[in-house]
Amino acid sequence: MHPNHEPSIINRSHRPVLAVDIGGTKILTAIVSPAGQVMAHCYELTRASEGPRAVIERLFACLDLLISRKNGNTSQFEAIALGTAGPLEQKRGLVTSSPHLPGWRNVPLRDIVYKRYHLDTYMINDAQAAALGEQQLGAGKGTQNLIFLTISTGIGGGIVINGRLFTGHDGSAGEIGHMTVDINGPQCNCGNHGCLEVMASGTAVARDACARLTRGDKSQLIEMVHGDLSKITAKEIQQAAEEGDTLSREVIDRAAFYLGVGLASLVDIFNPEVIVIGGGMSRLGGRLLVPARKVVRQRAFRLPARTVRILRARLGIFSGVQGAAIFALHQQERGEGET
Ligand SMILES: [Zn+2]
Repeated sequence: MHPNHEPSIINRSHRPVLAVDIGGTKILTAIVSPAGQVMAHCYELTRASEGPRAVIERLFACLDLLISRKNGNTSQFEAIALGTAGPLEQKRGLVTSSPHLPGWRNVPLRDIVYKRYHLDTYMINDAQAAALGEQQLGAGKGTQNLIFLTISTGIGGGIVINGRLFTGHDGSAGEIGHMTVDINGPQCNCGNHGCLEVMASGTAVARDACARLTRGDKSQLIEMVHGDLSKITAKEIQQAAEEGDTLSREVIDRAAFYLGVGLASLVDIFNPEVIVIGGGMSRLGGRLLVPARKVVRQRAFRLPARTVRILRARLGIFSGVQGAAIFALHQQERGEGET
């Protein structure tokens, strides 16, 4: 949406932001300073199966608690930043649907929050928020052009261009997990075939390992899960790979290959300074990133492939709230500039 902006600055005269990261497992709310630091936070389980109304009540309880730290005075805050598991319709502030939030269909979350607190309220996809967080404060600090991928059960992404988050025409840009890397690949949750998510996520490595074990291949994984293949996750595969298990190493190599194929396209299209990889699969470290980097060098154009750095994410669980807060401050600055 804002591809050609001046390098980002966080205006130090701003007040702190109330930032929220709503995922399928937890609701994390925080007071984030204008410099992006978490000053206080509140952690609550989402209990998403109870539906949107109950989740929003819990969100309000967390925000009320943080506001009470400022004597209940909402005017102490600059804005509210909502980082939410997508897909979102950013312009209208809707959570359109989410595999992680059952029962959420076109929930006007931004307006619901605004009506209660009367603070400027912004909404952003959680992976986009984490991208901005990593660019401003994490592994990409000091860079202006960054691509972020979070690889766990699925793959999310975010794109920062010239220091600003690139959100696209409708706010949905950055769905890197749904870039096709094998037109004949298995079907993805999104309905398409051979998306990066279905070839290189934690779910993909577990599926590949189970398929090979069902065919009769040998691996210590069988012993680790006492023969119950449904218990195999990326975590067990990582542990087995570290202990020298060949099958585990091979399924990780396969995921790393497809990750490299996807990253090579991103390198050619965006010429990023840094690609940051977060999420549970990033714990594989070099086992995932070394082969992926090799594929990038083989497939992408020489100059951008030589200069790009492919790094592990540095911010921990707060990346979403920190990034969402920075996004809100950027939006506030834009608004002030326009009036
Ligand atoms: Zn897909």
